[in-house]
Amino acid sequence: MDTETKICPMCETGILTPVTYAEDFEYRGALLHIEGLEGCECNVCGADPVLKEQILCNQARIADAKRQIDGLLTSDEIRTIRTTLNLSQQDAAALFGGGVNAFSKYERGDVMQSVAMDRLLRLVARHPFLLNELRQHVGSKTESRVCETPPRS
Ligand SMILES: [Zn+2]
Repeated sequence: MDTETKICPMCETGILTPVTYAEDFEYRGALLHIEGLEGCECNVCGADPVLKEQILCNQARIADAKRQIDGLLTSDEIRTIRTTLNLSQQDAAALFGGGVNAFSKYERGDVMQSVAMDRLLRLVARHPFLLNELRQHVGSKTESRVCETPPRS
């Protein structure tokens, strides 16, 4: 969080101090205890709002905790794989699928990757030469699409 002073939106006089807290969530029938969630506390009225950028951080933290339960790669692991392969988020989405914004969503914890995507990423991370296969496949798909114009009747 930036250090600029934030005024409490509730009482409009107090100053907000960043705090961290823990919260329990239920996930797949298990209790998920997540620490280090970010929020604020007002020194006047005691309100504890969570600011927009803090919500985003918390969301990523919660998504990662769920991914750990599911045995999926975390946001950071996905980002590391992608940057190690030297791919932009757009390149990665074009090669691996999942939609144009898939990787920005995975890395923000907005959306959890499917099990299939997770396994594909692990496979390519371990055997980076497979990227060439994917490139050829994606390339040939675009080419064949050009050829597949319906015959004129
Ligand atoms: Zn206040």
